[in-house]
Amino acid sequence: MNKKQTIDRRGFIKLGIQTGGGVLALSAIPMQLTAQDAVAESEPLAQAMGYVTDATKVDTAKFPKRSGEAGANQFCHNCALYAGEADSASAPCSIFQNRLVSGKGWCNAWVAKS
Ligand code: SF4
Repeated sequence: MNKKQTIDRRGFIKLGIQTGGGVLALSAIPMQLTAQDAVAESEPLAQAMGYVTDATKVDTAKFPKRSGEAGANQFCHNCALYAGEADSASAPCSIFQNRLVSGKGWCNAWVAKS
């Protein structure tokens, strides 16, 4: 083994440590993004999106998307953006940066699960 190879191995080990550190740092980001705090109806984005924790309380004059027979069947728990089981009380929603929304809730970004 010559000196060059030794340096290269050291460099490789250093890189591995740095990369490992980077992976550890990156793995912390999703934990921050998936902060498990619930979205409040009073928040500006929630109000803009018409989010409510109880979909039966949607102002259908303001958000006609949820009016009528088809609209009455729209809930967070059957929305494509709801990252939870259909029977879970709450789950992360990507519209709200993966914060928790109510399974019985609704917002104007509702889209049917395919
Ligand atoms: S995008 Fe879907 S899951 Fe998210 S708040 Fe709106 S209706 Fe609920």
